[in-house]
Amino acid sequence: MAVKKNGGVRARRKPAQEEAMDILIKKYGKHAHPLEYKSPFELVVMVVLSAQTNDALINRIAPQFFARFPDFQAIAKSKPEDLFEPLKGVRNFANKARWLCAIAEKLSPGFAVPLSLEALTALPGIGRKSASVILRELGAKAEGIIVDLHVLRVIPRIGLSSKTEAGPLEKDLMQMLPRRQWKDAGMAVSFLGREICRPKPACDVCPVRSFCTFASKRAPRRQKVL
Ligand code: SF4
Repeated sequence: MAVKKNGGVRARRKPAQEEAMDILIKKYGKHAHPLEYKSPFELVVMVVLSAQTNDALINRIAPQFFARFPDFQAIAKSKPEDLFEPLKGVRNFANKARWLCAIAEKLSPGFAVPLSLEALTALPGIGRKSASVILRELGAKAEGIIVDLHVLRVIPRIGLSSKTEAGPLEKDLMQMLPRRQWKDAGMAVSFLGREICRPKPACDVCPVRSFCTFASKRAPRRQKVL
């Protein structure tokens, strides 16, 4: 916040990227996560299963899976092969079954879901993005910014980073956005990517069009007035 010469306080003008992100967070910040989990246990399992897999598919198979494995204790008592049947159709299901068994074993005896990026990413099958999703959904402090495939597509279009890999792009975002936005920024951009900035973007209805490099390049040239 800037201080005027006469002692009054002038509100700080937000940088453009912060302003654009506030618009997206206002629009999408309260949206429920697409994975329809009902407990921290279900959240962790569904996040692990959803890697490189459609969220809708995970929502479909989840009830059958959780009927057989209702908590970490049930998974800890099982062998990975016991999980195969209800997970058939999920990409890389055999490895994911192994990771879930290893996670259940690591979290025993208390089976409490850890609430730090470091502890979560120490679990098999959980990378930075998955850990940030879990922290956000459980209301813990953000230690990074969620970067999924939608974020990887949308952020370079807007012009906030030219990076094509999740790690470097997340670093750019963490440097340019204030910490207060970290928690919701990734999911807000992800929702924009799911609903509006799809592979074929609907720029005409986009709430951050005036900030977007891609849209400004696409804007039709004015006709010469004769
Ligand atoms: S203006 Fe178009 S390209 Fe830019 S973020 Fe919006 S939908 Fe995507």
